[in-house]
Amino acid sequence: MLEEIYAHVLRRNPGEREFHQAVREVLESLPVVLERRPELCDGSLLDRLCEPERQVIFRVPWTDDAGRVHVNRGFRVEFNSALGPYKGGLRFHPTVNLDIVKFLAFEQTFKNALTGMPIGGGKGGSDFDPKGRSDAEVMRFCQSFMTELQRHIGEHTDVPAGDTGVGAREIGYLFGQYRRITNRFEAGVLTGKGVGWGGSHARPEATGYGLVVFTAEMLRARDLELDGMRVVVSGSGNVAIHAAEKAAASGATVVACSDSGGCVVDEDGLDLDLLKQVKLKDRARLSAYAEQRGGAAEYREGGRVWDVACDVALPCATQNELDEDAAKTLVGNGVRVVAEGANMPTTPDAVRALRAADVLFAPGKAANAGGVATSALEMQQNASRTLWTFEKTEDRLTEIMKHIHHTCHDTAERYGRPGDYVAGANIAGFELVGESMQAQGVI
Ligand code: NDP
Repeated sequence: MLEEIYAHVLRRNPGEREFHQAVREVLESLPVVLERRPELCDGSLLDRLCEPERQVIFRVPWTDDAGRVHVNRGFRVEFNSALGPYKGGLRFHPTVNLDIVKFLAFEQTFKNALTGMPIGGGKGGSDFDPKGRSDAEVMRFCQSFMTELQRHIGEHTDVPAGDTGVGAREIGYLFGQYRRITNRFEAGVLTGKGVGWGGSHARPEATGYGLVVFTAEMLRARDLELDGMRVVVSGSGNVAIHAAEKAAASGATVVACSDSGGCVVDEDGLDLDLLKQVKLKDRARLSAYAEQRGGAAEYREGGRVWDVACDVALPCATQNELDEDAAKTLVGNGVRVVAEGANMPTTPDAVRALRAADVLFAPGKAANAGGVATSALEMQQNASRTLWTFEKTEDRLTEIMKHIHHTCHDTAERYGRPGDYVAGANIAGFELVGESMQAQGVI
């Protein structure tokens, strides 16, 4: 039956490879559930689970600083609201298309369920590239994007946040335009806001910090600890930098990171203040980090962090960035843990190679859920018109990540797959969403 459902997904969504990959990965975890809980696996429920509730595609015209008009495409996929309002980020990157947004929204549905918080799954974005654009151009784009998106969102309906290419600057412009059009200060409509106007402390840090908490829990389950280990992260954006920061604070040495141009290797440990300056403030290339670090760091044009020997590898850049060859190189160099900060960065072949070598592997839908969990904490603060301290917010984040680890670990054991966090995350997420869908009838 699962094969039939997958074949139907292929027919209905032709050419959408990433979406197919994400669906297949979840369905492959379900045969054991099918045996034990047949009531959850009836065809209608699985068919509905693989079909978004709503998909919106729209035109986004905007004018650049030279007065030229550009036309981009905007997307919002509202995948599943059985557990709460749709929740998931917006991505601005030239590679964004319906396939990418749909796979991200599907993943988000299970991830959000795992947090234990009342949020459904959605995702959105545009093929707009903010790189090299002035602040004024980014603002005009965001205003045009929100002029259409505002029809579809709301604090009880759909609550977007940031993702690749959408940080504090973009959320600010998007929120401003929403407020202007609706004439409402509806703080809970977007998360990732600035702390002075409805944002939460620790939201920028949350995905990366949460990833490291999850990684430390996996190690602890095997009587190991992060302290003293060598870590590599791919990417050098929001998730990667905060993962590196938390890993360093936990006693690890983070020896390499990358961007779309290449990687830096810094054997003494990355200088995180410099990295933040170069990548988050100056929005410059990673090569500038190596130049400013003097002789301490080596820049490898086109290089991959997977070639650098490490105990822990944290892919934090983009989907399908860690392939089978990279996985085999990591295994050959003695890696013990691979935990996904990005969404679906590891190809299915790479996951198989890592698992065959008994490397601990954490899927993004569990390991990077700290970002959306803290977004849900931001919604809680907005609803009660309060602002928690950084410490209180981080403590809640830590508790939630430990809870997610516990859920995945125990579910995998309960279904006879000890140590298989992919199965644990998929099954636990599926049970939570599936039970709610079933209770709410055929809709
Ligand atoms: P950012 O835009 O802040 O950073 C992305 C980083 O990845 C940049 O360093 C970018 O390099 C690099 N990168 C992008 N594409 C490639 C590529 N093809 N090859 C090598 N490097 C690449 O995004 P985020 O850190 O927010 O997001 C990263 C990942 O984490 C995404 O998969 C996202 O969906 C996921 N995620 C993000 C969450 C969040 O809270 N932000 C929450 C959960 C998951 P360059 O600077 O050259 O562009």
